[in-house]
Amino acid sequence: MLDQTSVTAYGHLINGETIDRATAGGIDVLDPSTGKVFARIPRGGAAEVDRAIDAARSAFEGEWGAKSALERGRILMKISALIIENFEELAALESRDTGKPMKQARADITATARYFEYYGSAADKHHGETIPYSKGMTVLALRVPHGVTAHIIPWNYPSQIYGRSVGGALAAGNACVVKPAEDACLTPLRISELALEAGLPAGALNVVCGLGTEAGAALAAHPGINHISFTGSPQTGTAVAKAAAENHVQVTLELGGKSPQVIFADADLDEALPVIVNAIIQNAGQTCAAGSRVLIERSIYDEVLARLSERFSALKVGAGVDDLDCGPIISAKQLERVTSLVDAALADGAKVVASASMAENAPEGGFFYPPMLLDGAAPESRIGQDEVFGPVLAAFPFDDEKDAIRIANATPYGLTASVWTRDGGRQMRCANAIEAGQVFVNNYGAGGGIELPFGGMKRSGYGREKAFEGMISFTTIKTVVLKHG
Ligand code: NAD
Repeated sequence: MLDQTSVTAYGHLINGETIDRATAGGIDVLDPSTGKVFARIPRGGAAEVDRAIDAARSAFEGEWGAKSALERGRILMKISALIIENFEELAALESRDTGKPMKQARADITATARYFEYYGSAADKHHGETIPYSKGMTVLALRVPHGVTAHIIPWNYPSQIYGRSVGGALAAGNACVVKPAEDACLTPLRISELALEAGLPAGALNVVCGLGTEAGAALAAHPGINHISFTGSPQTGTAVAKAAAENHVQVTLELGGKSPQVIFADADLDEALPVIVNAIIQNAGQTCAAGSRVLIERSIYDEVLARLSERFSALKVGAGVDDLDCGPIISAKQLERVTSLVDAALADGAKVVASASMAENAPEGGFFYPPMLLDGAAPESRIGQDEVFGPVLAAFPFDDEKDAIRIANATPYGLTASVWTRDGGRQMRCANAIEAGQVFVNNYGAGGGIELPFGGMKRSGYGREKAFEGMISFTTIKTVVLKHG
């Protein structure tokens, strides 16, 4: 059970050992539901990153690299089983660290276990090709691991994003160095300990704690890594890609979004509206794939707004442990960002149509922001363009299919979208025309879906994670040309 009163000291996990437990100094980890410190992590930098990369290289060239695909897969399956065995402990830790309601934390841990199961079972089913080149020759296109892979993780879904990223990389045979976010990194640390228990050789998976500008920047710029998987903000993504370019290292960038939820007049509203609300309140809107814009056909605009409004007004906000509709924002800094973007929207002419209320027992000092529905903003205003990363849904009317597609595509982002209509032709036309890495028709995944290739178009990033596609990203092709006559 998680200690609710004292401050727990965590360390880095390097070469199979927990080191530098942050008893004093280090970085305070706050419970977003109360604003109180409950853990402390060490503030790693270039020295710890060096050690972690050395350990990963040794594992890759040693015991881990010598494992067969089947052996790697079995270890990943065991990690998955250990996550399930420690399910409630991990869910409580994730909820405390991020503030997310327990049901969301449980869903996240379930998904994390699924990533290890999925990639564990994929490890020995992933192979290259032979190429009919010329008579007397056989050409093999082998799928080989990159070597040492770096994984820079954000705070919003620490366990899930860690699972999807290191799951694919380990299954493909890489050794990993993870830099989780300073605001929430405890489940990646704990699951990495479980991975050792599952039989993962020391050094195959290392976790360095610390600030992005120190440990993160040192990792991104390190000449000893062969691939970077980065999930986070577009600004940091640019910095990471620039650092990687210096070493000619390939990067996968999973950045933000401003995902449109498009509702046509023929949609089944009873089905659509609960999903649309959930797509923005899930994880207090701190989801890269949050459905933060709802585009509504003008003929049903007032009706949909009234029905959404009822739903927003009924929502309750409180501590993660109380498991209500919505938990807190991750930090005071992020709360300030959400508040200032909404203030700017109101100054630009937007109006608050409805907002949720705080639970009576919500703790003092938590970073709460009640979910809010806004109307009256122009699609080109900041609230129509910028990622809020909070539970704020902006509504916009449209005239017809062409207009809907125009507004849907009129942001720099292209991560995910949903289209709600019973018209089969329109479903496919919209899916084709909307610029997004994932388009959902009459449903919305809001980031879920282990088996579904995921990633952005435009400024939402490049490369794909999740699914088989994610594992392919963690390999490269080596072509072997055999002349045998
Ligand atoms: P962030 O970019 O500030 O931080 C992400 C990670 O990068 C953290 O581990 C951080 O410590 C590290 N970092 C920060 N500066 C760095 C630097 N100079 N060099 C190397 N690493 C550095 O993002 P955040 O605030 O943690 O997360 C929010 C953002 O992430 C949002 O924009 C959101 O849309 C995006 N996001 C995207 C996805 C996706 O899959 N597309 C998923 C979750 C979050």
